[in-house]
Amino acid sequence: MNMQFEQAQRIKRLPPYLFARIEKLIKEKRDAGVDIISLGIGDPDMPTPDYIIEELQKQAEIGANHQYPSSAGMLAYRKAVAQWYKNRFGVELDSASEVVSLIGSKEGIAHISFCYLNPGDTVLVPDPGYPVYAGGAILAGAEPYYMPLKAEKSFLPDLSDIPVDVARRAKMMFINYPNNPTGAVAGEEFYREVISFAKEYNILICHDAAYSEIAYDGYEPPSFLQYPGAKEVGIEFHSVSKTYNMTGWRIGWAAGHPQVVEALGRLKSNIDSGQFQAVQYAAIQGLTGPQDAVLQMRKVYQERRDILVDALNSMGWQLEKPKATFYVWAPVPAGYTSESFAELVLDKAGVVITPGSGYGSNSDGFFRIALTMEKERMIEALERMKKNIGMVEF
Ligand SMILES: *Cc1c(COP(=O)(O)O)cnc(C)c1O
Repeated sequence: MNMQFEQAQRIKRLPPYLFARIEKLIKEKRDAGVDIISLGIGDPDMPTPDYIIEELQKQAEIGANHQYPSSAGMLAYRKAVAQWYKNRFGVELDSASEVVSLIGSKEGIAHISFCYLNPGDTVLVPDPGYPVYAGGAILAGAEPYYMPLKAEKSFLPDLSDIPVDVARRAKMMFINYPNNPTGAVAGEEFYREVISFAKEYNILICHDAAYSEIAYDGYEPPSFLQYPGAKEVGIEFHSVSKTYNMTGWRIGWAAGHPQVVEALGRLKSNIDSGQFQAVQYAAIQGLTGPQDAVLQMRKVYQERRDILVDALNSMGWQLEKPKATFYVWAPVPAGYTSESFAELVLDKAGVVITPGSGYGSNSDGFFRIALTMEKERMIEALERMKKNIGMVEF
């Protein structure tokens, strides 16, 4: 018989996995032979561009790449990141001290809490939000204070709503624009407000810019680091995952405040040994090579976005088209929770949508649809919803 081992408090404190029930229902349907179309998964469906794959193949054959890399990342990789920031945002970064490589930005987002949060410390976390912000903080023993992102505030946190005693206690704040799951974007006014809030209360800002290159209608999302004072108060997490369809490759970076970058690098040197150099070379190719694949991908997502939003609006929603990310965040019709509506859509249409409740307690009135499904299948999903659910009311 297996021995019973008591799990550590930090594991027990992680929030319960909220999609367990819907995943069980999906499996039951699939097992029964129902053709399920999932609009739930936020993972690019298109392949990594060829020139990046070719670089990996070439570098994989070079023996020097087979050894342990440096955990901060090759200087050539960090230089490519710094050059990309200069070209794209006009941001100057010292590649040696202001950029650290990550095994995907998720890894750094989870680990930054171990660098700056002691047990019991307060961290400001958006709700809804990417679950790793709270997850990393909880693993470090800290207490998330959730900042609600509300439709009437364009899904930006209202910093003036944060009680002064909470702001004084808080050590760190996570923000993420273009935003997963709401698709919201942020501009100069918001970032300037964040920077002055950070200075007033001595709060380290961690901005997650994973979707800065997934934008539409000619909109170019900014970097947090391009605003005056940003580098003095924080860092930005980013990766090649969404920009070049490289989610499986696991390579990203954190950039900005040099002491924060150093602390994250020092923590990582005690945990991992960096990313395979061949993968770093491939990411360099992505960042420095021709960007036409990115433009092409934006076009594909934009067409899907238009089809999706127009179809939902023809069923009674009144959605605006998101300017960035590959997500559409929509309210559930009257009489439903996000979970009961997701179950209805699965049951009646064989379509998977993501209940908002998985992204925070403030988000039960919403669901998320990802644009990472080919057009024909998406159209079929929408037709099934129209036919079997029909007009909705709010
Ligand atoms: C996809 C995503 C990331 C990127 O994760 P990687 O670890 O770099 O692949 C980061 N933040 C958010 C909000 C995301 O949705």
